[in-house]
Amino acid sequence: MDFNNHVKKEVVKISADKYAPEACPFCGSKKLSKRSSRKRNIPEIGNLNTEVIVELEVVLFKCEDCGMEYTPEHLDYPKKFEYSKRIIQTALSMHFRKNLSGNKIADFLAEYCRVLIPPKTIYSWINNLTEDFMKSEFKTEPERALDAYKALTIDGTHFNLGKKLLGKKKDVQLSLIVKLSKEIYLLTWWE
Ligand SMILES: [Zn+2]
Repeated sequence: MDFNNHVKKEVVKISADKYAPEACPFCGSKKLSKRSSRKRNIPEIGNLNTEVIVELEVVLFKCEDCGMEYTPEHLDYPKKFEYSKRIIQTALSMHFRKNLSGNKIADFLAEYCRVLIPPKTIYSWINNLTEDFMKSEFKTEPERALDAYKALTIDGTHFNLGKKLLGKKKDVQLSLIVKLSKEIYLLTWWE
């Protein structure tokens, strides 16, 4: 077996007609024209020797019937984020499931997935997307959260569930309470 470690770059092109709705979201008309088009480059998960970049075509459409203009969003490449949803989800999953810090996640993704992400970006995802992540993760069985997240300590950040707050210290400011079901709340805080 030849384990070469040469890193190659792969560009995946996605044109707007692959993801844009065929009809106007306002009136349902199919008479649409492209007003403008641009390319957005988004890092995607690669592997040990492949760096993957998505070249997404972003189009401003105009409906010829109702006159509305709109830019469809690709669900895997949300407008407000510089990285793909899969990268963000992987980073959050590593943080919550594997107990890894933002710095360790950044190192891992750089080395094994060929994605460079500043650790502070990962911390901002943890800060801003925990609620969305936990709600998606435990949508169908919120009680599963009790087994999965009894008590974790992550680089000075504590996560806990239920009434018993293991490891809680004085002067802890709660950053977020996520309601997963009637009885189950997820509490997160920074120290
Ligand atoms: Zn329309």
